[in-house]
Amino acid sequence: MTVAINRQWLLKQRPVGAFKDSDFEYHEAPMPTISKGQALVKTLYLSFDPTQRIWAAVDSYIPAIPLGMPMQALTISQVIESKSKKYKAGDIVSGLMTWQEYAVISEKDNSVLPPIVMPGFLDLQLTLALLLTGLTAYFGLLEVGKPRPGDTVLVSGAAGATGSMVVQIAKLKGARVVGIAGGPDKCLWLKEVAKVDEVIDYKNEDLRVRVAETCPNGIDVFFDNVGGETLDAALINLAHGARVVICGAISQYNNISSNINDRENDSYGVKATVMLISSSARMQGFLISDFKNQFNEGLMLLTKWVEEGKIVQQIDCQQGFENIPSTLQRLFLGENKGKQILKLSDPALPLNTNPLMRLAFGLMKAFVSWRKG
Ligand code: NAP
Repeated sequence: MTVAINRQWLLKQRPVGAFKDSDFEYHEAPMPTISKGQALVKTLYLSFDPTQRIWAAVDSYIPAIPLGMPMQALTISQVIESKSKKYKAGDIVSGLMTWQEYAVISEKDNSVLPPIVMPGFLDLQLTLALLLTGLTAYFGLLEVGKPRPGDTVLVSGAAGATGSMVVQIAKLKGARVVGIAGGPDKCLWLKEVAKVDEVIDYKNEDLRVRVAETCPNGIDVFFDNVGGETLDAALINLAHGARVVICGAISQYNNISSNINDRENDSYGVKATVMLISSSARMQGFLISDFKNQFNEGLMLLTKWVEEGKIVQQIDCQQGFENIPSTLQRLFLGENKGKQILKLSDPALPLNTNPLMRLAFGLMKAFVSWRKG
């Protein structure tokens, strides 16, 4: 008799510097079983996000991932067995789960991103891409950055999952957009596909010189995914009343250590914050979960813009359970082209595509688009 196993990747040690293969350990666990109020889900797609470097190292807005436990990640999964009223077999769910083929979810999950049932008629890859980074771009730019037509919007990490959506939404809102990215291929994509006005290849050009050149009237909105020296280069070129949106600081994440005394725990000290005074500027961080009550609005509008070809969501989909740790490392090497995901499986059961839900979603999408689009 063959015993069903559940393949997992465990977090073996806290990362020091960049993630290494040895930070993770392959493990085969018995298939989990469920009790009342729970459901068994099969992982279909994993999302890869720079913030996983933070989760693996220290307590942050979620507790540090325990060593010896499966690495945490946002997933798209399918309910394959249920003893819960909230989840039905066939449902597609998305939320903060783990690097394993099967998982148990519970009605009583109070974590920061508990599994939510997604409309089964949406494209699964697109849904995963839009859910975290698409919504981050949408709310971070529109609610925190508040761009006005004619504003100069500078975006770092501009060809990445979040940045590539920010630049396109800013263009839709009538801004003049400058994107910073690493390498000619990414800059070409920004120019030709995302239609940004100016690009800066920070790996091959002098960043400070080019920011000044491409933003001659100053930066009205800086959407920062990178931090460190990039943030300083923007701060010294702000326009009066600028808004600096601190979305992420990927250039610094590999310096975050679980031990405060580690030499690696040596983040870049931003030097030019004094420029916020002379430009009467505002600098504000945010977490996408701050906007969780508005997720439907954002998801509907983004889906509509993609369907209408107004914005392009680039998706970089890797395959294979064995490639999970190396796929995470792609983000920090700049190898990903758009939203980094990995496919583990096709759905095991027919998807729940309730026609009434589809009708309601379509009507709400039209309403949101009329009100906000
Ligand atoms: P991404 O931009 O698709 O991928 C990461 C990109 O960062 C890489 O492709 C690379 O692009 C760039 N990068 C890597 N190391 C770098 C370094 N040392 N210096 C400069 N650039 C570097 O990833 P994402 O998921 O969209 O995340 C982008 C940022 O948004 C991250 O900082 C993330 O933490 C943040 N974020 C925040 C929230 C929130 O709630 N606030 C939610 C989601 C994401 P190049 O090839 O161009 O260098």
